Order: sequence, then structure tokens, then C-alpha cells
Amino acid sequence: MPSSLRALRLGLIILLVLVGTTLSAGWAMHQAKRQAMETDARRASEQLSLYANALHTLIERYRALPAVLALDPELIGALRGPVTPALQDALNHKLERINGAANSSTLELLDRTGLAIAASNWRLPTTYVGSNYGFRPYFKQTRSQGSGRFYAVGVTSGVPGYFLSSAVNDEHGRFLGAMVVKLEFPELEREWRQGSDILLVSDARGITFIANQDGWRYRELQPLDGADRAELAETRQYDKQPLVPLQHQTLTRFTANSRLARVQGPDGSAEYLWESLPLEAEGWTLHLLRKPQVAEDGRNAALAAAAIWLSLVFASLFVSQRLRLARLRRRSREELKRQVEERTRELRTAQEGLVQSAKLAALGQMSAALAHEINQPLTTQRMQLETLRLLLDHGRHDQARQALEPLEQMLTRMAALTGHLKSFARNSPGGLRERLDLATVVDQALHLLETRIRNEDVDIALYLARPAWVRGDAIRLEQVLINLLRNALDAMAGKRYKRLEIRIEADDSQWRLSVLDSGGGILDSDLAKVFDPFFTTKPVGEGLGLGLAISYGIVVDAGGRLQVENLPGGARFSLTLPRDLEPVC
Ligand code: ADP
Repeated sequence: MPSSLRALRLGLIILLVLVGTTLSAGWAMHQAKRQAMETDARRASEQLSLYANALHTLIERYRALPAVLALDPELIGALRGPVTPALQDALNHKLERINGAANSSTLELLDRTGLAIAASNWRLPTTYVGSNYGFRPYFKQTRSQGSGRFYAVGVTSGVPGYFLSSAVNDEHGRFLGAMVVKLEFPELEREWRQGSDILLVSDARGITFIANQDGWRYRELQPLDGADRAELAETRQYDKQPLVPLQHQTLTRFTANSRLARVQGPDGSAEYLWESLPLEAEGWTLHLLRKPQVAEDGRNAALAAAAIWLSLVFASLFVSQRLRLARLRRRSREELKRQVEERTRELRTAQEGLVQSAKLAALGQMSAALAHEINQPLTTQRMQLETLRLLLDHGRHDQARQALEPLEQMLTRMAALTGHLKSFARNSPGGLRERLDLATVVDQALHLLETRIRNEDVDIALYLARPAWVRGDAIRLEQVLINLLRNALDAMAGKRYKRLEIRIEADDSQWRLSVLDSGGGILDSDLAKVFDPFFTTKPVGEGLGLGLAISYGIVVDAGGRLQVENLPGGARFSLTLPRDLEPVC
């Protein structure tokens, strides 16, 4: 693959990893946030039910109080009138006592016009006694329906509270007035202030009137229309309290009453989990606002997701790399195998060709040499046989006998040639491995060549360690030695000083037999060829070039080596054979 493509691919992988990491982290963060918020919202909703119960219980506790008091004959009698100061005083004291016992905020008795004729707070400057509450909705409800309820800021006291009222009727069921209990919730608000949650109670118009934290009370959760405002002014529900809108925007809605919202509260803008619970009986709604605690969870989830994503990416990259490597390795192994097979085939073909041509060349050389060697004596012999017949025809027997001599020599030579060839043919591995003394072999060879050595006046120097035990075929080793000696004599043929030095020495675990002559040595260029079959420098008819080749084969066959080197004055042939250490039996 070109490097630019590879770089592009790497770039794409890095981009994929980055985008994938960001996306998966973002997605996981979002999911984790949402999940954590939903759990939180559920928990908040459960808590909200508890708060609602507490509020409901509180209200229920006082709901029956005005109805029970409305049956009191003393109160009924008072409403029938007239109300003397003494009676009013007695009523005030009575209501004060009951209020204390019931632990309610205030108790008041209104006549049929809404005028407070007695109240438990008669001692206070802000007492209701003497004020008319005929404009209050709870009074109107009581007059028309028998009971009423209304949350409002006290017009006289300025203290907000929940007014529960019950009609006081005469024995004919005629409306005489109303018995009213006012509940205030400062304790409830204090209790609700314990946690960090914001708890609000809003009325049917969405105006908060109970709040456990300052700044959240008298807020409009939804915009008021003109009719609402007119009614509020008429009932003086929140009297002089200014109403401020509370800005909020839903970000995520989980259920109809559960959402995540951004709220512009008194402490600034913040996100809240906003749970709402309608309180059917009062027509109110209870709200719980809680700051979400999900940043940490989200971050952890994002980190985990990024880690999982990265692990997945690296694992898949690793696996694909391994697969690619395995594929490449398999392919290169197959390629290598194919190349080796092809090369082997080529080599085998070449080798077969070489062997074939070498065989042909050897056969050609041998044929030429044999033809020459045999033809020449044959021609000579035919001529000499002719001469012989003539001599016999003329009765010249003595001369005929003399003429037989060269004939005989020639036959001997031909016999020698065939002898050579026979040795060559015999030169196969596995000759005799008898125990023999090399020195004896030297003795034998010298004995066979004795006449020639003497005739040619050769100086012989012998340094023979004996016995030099080796294993091999004595006759064949003798043939080797005769070859070496003959070659040495041939080399020294024209020389004035002829010296032949034969040595047998121990060399480590071998015996070394060397033949050194004073024949001038071998040309450097011929040194490597002297053991090749048919290599000869001798004139045609004198050398076949087989002697050293055959000798070499015999020595190697006996487990030894045959080497040649030039020394000053002549050539030295060395034959080494492993020493046979077996004791003589
Ligand atoms: P041939 O004697 O029939 O030539 P050989 O194989 O015995 O065959 O010898 C090969 C050649 O090695 C000889 O022709 C000769 O040139 C060379 N050679 C062998 N021995 C000697 C030696 N002692 N000194 C010089 N040349 C030698």
C-alpha cells in the first residue's frame, strides 16, 4: 500500500476513535444523567407524598373544629343577639380557651354579616373582634354552602393562614353566622426547612403561599389574567403582599408532574428537578424543587463509556492487525514455498544437464584416450607381425625372435591399460578393511620398482615409522604408492639430481605417508587438476591421467586423504590414514 494511502487510513482511524470516543462519552453521560435524574425524581416524588400527608393530616385535624363549635348553644345564643359586652367578653374568653386547647392559631365567631363578634385573639391590638369579613370567600361559601375554606393573609393581623369555617344555624337551619378557625403554618415551614429541597404550596391560580425558604413565597408560577387580579383584589387574599412572577422553563419532562426545569429563583438561575403533587381536597399543589446531583455520575459514566469504547476500538484494531499479519505470514510462507520449489526444480534441471554433459565429456575423453592408446600399438603390432612373417619366411629365426620383443612389450602395455581400467571400475566404496602396516606397503612398492630406481640412479631417503597400523586394502594401497612413485620418477626423468624421500610419521590420530621428489614440482595452475580423471601433462602414449584419480578414490575409500603441494625442488604427495589403535591379536 502506498505511504500516502497508509497515512490517510491512519488519519481516518484516529478521527474515528476521537469521534467515537466523544460521541459514546456524550451519549453515556446523557443517558447516565437522565437515568440518575429519573431515579432522583422518583425519590423526590415519594418524599413529596410524605410532605403532602403531613400537610393533609394537619388540616384534617382542624377541619371538624369549627363544625363542632358551631353546635355550641352558647355561641348560637350569642348570634341570636344582642351581644352585650359581658357576653362578648365571655365568648372571647371561651374561644381563647378552646383555641389554646386545640392549639389552633385563632378562633373567631362571625355574625350573619361577617362581623367578628368574638375572637380568641381579643387581647391583641390586631384582634379580629369588630372587623367585618363578609367579603372573604370562606364567609360567602359558608353562608351559601354551610362551610368554607380559604387561604389568605390576614387583613387585620397581616399574618397568612388557612381559614376553615362552618355555618352556625338555628334550630330551623337558618344561617346565624360562621365559626372560623385560622391555621398558620410557620411550624410546618420550619420543619420543612430541614433539608436542602425547596417546598412550596401554590393555590389554584399558581400562587405560592407556603414556602420553606424565603423569597419563594407569593410567587406567580403561571401568569395571572385580568379576572384573576380583580378577584384577588376583591377577596384581598394576599392583601398587600406584592406578587412576583417566578420564571421557569422545562428542560426535560419525565412525567406530567415531574420535570427538569431551569428556574430563575431568588438566588439566581439554576436547574431543578421539579416534582408537583396536586392536593385535591384543598385545590392546592405541593411542589418540591431539588438540585440534580448527577454531574459526578454523568462524568463517571462518560469516562467508563469512553474507556469501553477505546478498549473496543483497540481490541478490534489489535485483532484486525493480527489477522492481517497472519494472512501476510501465510501468504509469504506460501510464496516462499513456491519459490523454493521453483528454484529446486531449476537447480535439479541444471544439475541434471551438467551431469549429463560431464558424463558425455568424460566418455568422450576416455574414448579418445582409449582409441589412441589401443590404435597405436595395434597398428605397430600389425606392422611388426608382417615383419615377423617375412623373417620367418626367410628362415631368419633369430631376428624373428628379436622382433617378438617389442610386440610383447606392447601387449604388456595394453594389459597395463586394461588393468588401470579394471581398477577404475573397481573403485567403488567398500573395499577390504584389513589391518596393515603402511611401512610394509612402502617396502613392497619399492621392491616392485627396484630395477627402474636402480637404472635411473635415484637417491632414496626413507624415514619410516614402523609399524604404522592402518585399516585398508593392502594391494590397492600398494597400487597408490606405485602410482605416486612412478609419477615422481617420471617428473625426475630429465633431472641431473634425483632424490626421493619417503616418510611415515604420526600426526595426531593419523599416519602421514609422504613422497617428496626433486622433479621441479607442478605448475600452480595444474595443482587443482592433478586428481581429475584424464588430466595428464605427459606426451600422448605415456600418460592416461588416471593414476592419481584412481589413487585418490582408493585413499578416500579407506577413510583417508590424499593431498599435493609444491616444495622447493619438487612436489610432495601426502597420504593420511586414521591410526588403527587395536592391539595386535
Ligand atoms: P599420468 O601419470 O598418466 O599423467 P596421473 O594421474 O598419475 O596420470 O598424473 C597426472 C599428472 O599429474 C601428470 O601428468 C603430471 O603432470 C602430474 N604429476 C603427478 N605427479 C607428479 C610429480 N611427482 N611431479 C610433477 N608432476 C606430477
